[in-house]
Amino acid sequence: MKSAWLQVLEAARTLHLGSAELQGFAPFPDMVEFVKPEPLYVPASDILRNSTISGTAQTQPLVDAIRLLCPVAEWKQAYSEQEVGADMLARFGYIELVGPTGVFRHPSFQAYISFWDAHLFYDWHHHEAEELYFNLAGDAIFFADGQDDITLNPDETRIHTTNQNHAMRTETSPILTYIVWRGNGVGELPKMGRVA
Ligand code: ZN
Repeated sequence: MKSAWLQVLEAARTLHLGSAELQGFAPFPDMVEFVKPEPLYVPASDILRNSTISGTAQTQPLVDAIRLLCPVAEWKQAYSEQEVGADMLARFGYIELVGPTGVFRHPSFQAYISFWDAHLFYDWHHHEAEELYFNLAGDAIFFADGQDDITLNPDETRIHTTNQNHAMRTETSPILTYIVWRGNGVGELPKMGRVA
């Protein structure tokens, strides 16, 4: 199981080091400590594994490594059914790859792998940490206060600033993303709803 995690870590590191946007946002740490994860299943794991979305030359090695990890990954959801609804919990999941409570521990750098199936609306939410979404495969429409709505395609990025309200909607395709957090609020969870 550890080797599947290491493959994802190394593919993420390669992608990250090769992207000026990612490295400029938060340099990938040299040292991270592996903490034995507990496999935690969510239905989105199988949806992702069986989906046909594909990445680009840059992202496909990470997409492939994530698909291999799917059955043994420590999947998380963070939200209750009351907060995001049953359909979201049935078809969404994420992995904290690196971070304060990640499978690879680091106190101040946080990297997630996050997946949403098609036709989901990730309602408005916010968090203190600054955030960069890097789309690995599929697409979605991103909404954020003060910015134009955009469809994010593979290899494209979107940054959210501290406590900027944002939301996301998938249409006919699922989306698989690599998300990096930095600054104050790393290690916390997003809060649903808008902040004034
Ligand atoms: Zn966010």
